[in-house]
Amino acid sequence: MFSSLNLDPQILRAIEEEGYTEPTPIQAQAIPHVLAGSDLMAMAQTGTGKTAAFTLPLLQRLLPHASTSASPARHPIRALVLAPTRELAIQVEKSVETYSRHVPLRSTVVFGGIDIKTQKPALMKGVEILVATPGRLLDHVESRNLMLNQVQILILDEADRMLDMGFMPDLKRILTLLPKQRQTLLFSATFSDDIKKLAQDFLVNPVTVEAERRNTAAETVTQSVLMVDHDNKFSVLADLIRSRGLKQVLVFTRTKLTSAQLARKLEREGIPSDAIHGDKTQLERIKALDAFKEGKITALVATDVAARGLDIDQLPLVVNYELPTNAEDYVHRIGRTGRAGASGEAISLVDGEEERRLVEIEKLLKREFPREHAKVLPASRSSSSHRPAKPAAHVYVKKTAPVDDWFLKPYEPSPAAAKIAEQPSSNPDKPKKQIAALLCRPPAKN
Ligand code: AMP
Repeated sequence: MFSSLNLDPQILRAIEEEGYTEPTPIQAQAIPHVLAGSDLMAMAQTGTGKTAAFTLPLLQRLLPHASTSASPARHPIRALVLAPTRELAIQVEKSVETYSRHVPLRSTVVFGGIDIKTQKPALMKGVEILVATPGRLLDHVESRNLMLNQVQILILDEADRMLDMGFMPDLKRILTLLPKQRQTLLFSATFSDDIKKLAQDFLVNPVTVEAERRNTAAETVTQSVLMVDHDNKFSVLADLIRSRGLKQVLVFTRTKLTSAQLARKLEREGIPSDAIHGDKTQLERIKALDAFKEGKITALVATDVAARGLDIDQLPLVVNYELPTNAEDYVHRIGRTGRAGASGEAISLVDGEEERRLVEIEKLLKREFPREHAKVLPASRSSSSHRPAKPAAHVYVKKTAPVDDWFLKPYEPSPAAAKIAEQPSSNPDKPKKQIAALLCRPPAKN
């Protein structure tokens, strides 16, 4: 129970208001160590409740410094959370806001892709908890908008992703700006050699917790494989969406090009879709994600990099349109459904050339998937456009677990997502309005 974790009643109140009844495994394991002041290496993926696993004890440890004073000097940055992507940084900060709503500790988030000046006022007022992407954090350091010399707790969230994305030099620079005496928590979905090296540089005698083994994270997800020729994948996907009357599906492709093309093709087929991939700007990505969360688009087509850190509550179905090159990415992908104990489903459309990848995935998961064959009617309907949605019987997916009737309910955005959607004007992502300026002097009088 949360009540046995030695958390302040005001923090417990916020947890209760969120409707959490008991800690997730990663929370139950990590919170006592963080409260005891230990450095921590936690193997946990998005969806396991890892954000609360570090935020709740972090708030508890900062409580003695909580202050209602307006003076910025009373609100130095005491906790720094580093995250690889803007989306994750925003989500983490929303969680911090949620869990800290009854305690006088301030937080804000900074990330790249928007005008740095818009982030300065919140920093100048003073915040105890700063969530940041590494590059933008260093921009603020250079602009002298913040000081990191009072940071007591450093959190590296999705550390493996930060390394994948090439943030190691930035992390090393940030490290030189932090006090040596501090607590460091590292969260990662994998404990690769690179992560272990990073831990050596950043952590001191860390406690290791591993609530859910990487390869069993998907226990709540029903997984199936549909063998289908490459050329028929599109019609199978379109029919899957129609026949199930899906309102929300996350579709993964391996390349940016396929993701853009597939989203366009689905659109032409009358299925509202958008793509998020590395060539899209942060603003485009966040707009697509918001539209997806609000139910304005049915299919969000994503590449692995772009999908990192996405928190979409209760996403019923993930489709692997193409299997990932890296088997571990399969685990990340399907982790977008079946989150925090809810059941979910993942379907992989696999052509003959991808079988090798499927075998790699099976080795990693230590299980074999039955190869079902997608039945595609000779007259594929994929070429005609704007047809009304109609149930199709020719896509057959054998279930390995019963369908939860929760799948049949429409998607409801999380309270956090709904809040963001309600407040577009407060979205820091909004670009500044362009103002035309005359670059000549006004005509002289007389
Ligand atoms: P995270 O792994 O931090 O991205 O969290 C995944 C989801 O689990 C978020 O939507 C949280 O709101 C939710 N969550 C976190 N802790 C709990 C809990 N103890 N009980 C139920 N849901 C939780």
